[in-house]
Amino acid sequence: MGFSDFHGNAETVHRLRDMLARERFPHAVILSGARGSGKYTLALMLAQALNCLTPTETDGLPDFCGQCANCLRIAQAADLDARFAEAVETRDGMRETDKKDTRLFVQTHPDVLIIPPDPPQMMIKVDQVRRVIETIYYRPSEARERVYIFTDSAFMKEAANSLLKVLEEPPQFATIFLLSENPGELLPTIRSRAAAFALAASPVEEVERYLAKHRPEWKPQQRNLVARLCEGALGRARGFDLDSYVAARADALTMLNSALLGGEHSALFKITESYRAGAEGRQKTEHLLRTLYSLLRDLIFLNSGAPGLVHNTDIQSQLLRLAEVADFDWITAASDRLAEVERGMRRNLLRTLSLDAFELALEKGA
Ligand SMILES: [Zn+2]
Repeated sequence: MGFSDFHGNAETVHRLRDMLARERFPHAVILSGARGSGKYTLALMLAQALNCLTPTETDGLPDFCGQCANCLRIAQAADLDARFAEAVETRDGMRETDKKDTRLFVQTHPDVLIIPPDPPQMMIKVDQVRRVIETIYYRPSEARERVYIFTDSAFMKEAANSLLKVLEEPPQFATIFLLSENPGELLPTIRSRAAAFALAASPVEEVERYLAKHRPEWKPQQRNLVARLCEGALGRARGFDLDSYVAARADALTMLNSALLGGEHSALFKITESYRAGAEGRQKTEHLLRTLYSLLRDLIFLNSGAPGLVHNTDIQSQLLRLAEVADFDWITAASDRLAEVERGMRRNLLRTLSLDAFELALEKGA
C-alpha cells in the first residue's frame, strides 16, 4: 500500500510528493479533474503521507505505510459513497429538531475531517465550514497535521466567504483539500490562495490495462468499451455497471432499428411496456436516454468520418448499418426529441407516454 497504488497522473503525484519531501506542502490544495479521476483517492493518500507514524520512502520520495494506526483509520474513509450514505442515514434517524442542526461529515480519524456536499441541495453549507473553523486553529491530537477534505466545490455563498477567511489566515498545522470537477466554480479569491493541480484523463490503453487487472472477468472488447465510455476516469471505469449499460443499450438499439430500418414493432412494444413503474422505472428510463444519446453521438462520428471517436466500439457493424440511413438532420432532430422527453420526465409526465411519443416522432422521420 502506498502511492504506487495510484494509477495515472504520475507527474502530478511526483510534484505533490516532492513538496512533502521539502516540507513545503501548501496549506490549501485544489485537486481538479473529472468524476472518477482519482481526486479523492489522492487526497486520502496525501492525508496518510502527512500523518503516517512509520513513514517510508519509495523512488526517493515520501510514502506512507498503509498499516499504522493513522493510515488505517484514514483509509476507512476510502469508500466515500458508503460513508456518506451512513452519515445521511444517521441524520435521517434523528428527531426533527436535531436533524435541522446536524450537518454532514465523514470522519474516521479525529484529525481528518471530510466535508461532503449536504443534501438535498448537495452544496457545502456555512455550518459545515464553521465546524472547520472551530477546530482548524488547534494542534492536532493524534496526527501531525489536521486535514480537511472538501469533496465538492459547490459552496453556498456564505460558506465560500467563511472558507476564504480561513485561507486568508492559514493555520499552522492544517492542510485543506478542495476537490472539484470544475474549479471555475470556486471564488477567484479562494483559487488564488490555493495551489492547484489538475488530474488529467488517462489514455484509453492505460484504462484498458488497469481494467485487465481490476476487472479480469471482462473481455478485452468490453474493457475497450468501458474505457471509452468513462473517458479516461479510472475510478468510474472500475465501478462501471456494464450489465445495466448493455441492457439499456439493447433497448436503445431496438428503438433506433425500428425507427430507421423498420424493425419489429412487437419488440418495441415490449420495451416501452417495461419502462413503466416507479422510481426503478425512472432510473431505467434515464439509463435508456443516456445510451440513446451515446448511440446518436456515435452515429454522428461515423457520418463525419471519425470512427476513432466512437464509444460503442463493440457494436460498430450495427452502428454502421444505422449510420447509412441516418443523416445529420435526422440525428439532430432525434436529439431534440430526446431532450423533450427528458424535460417531460423532469416535469414528471407519464414516462411511458413520453417514450412512446419519442418513438413515434422518430418514425415520422423526426
Ligand atoms: Zn502509516
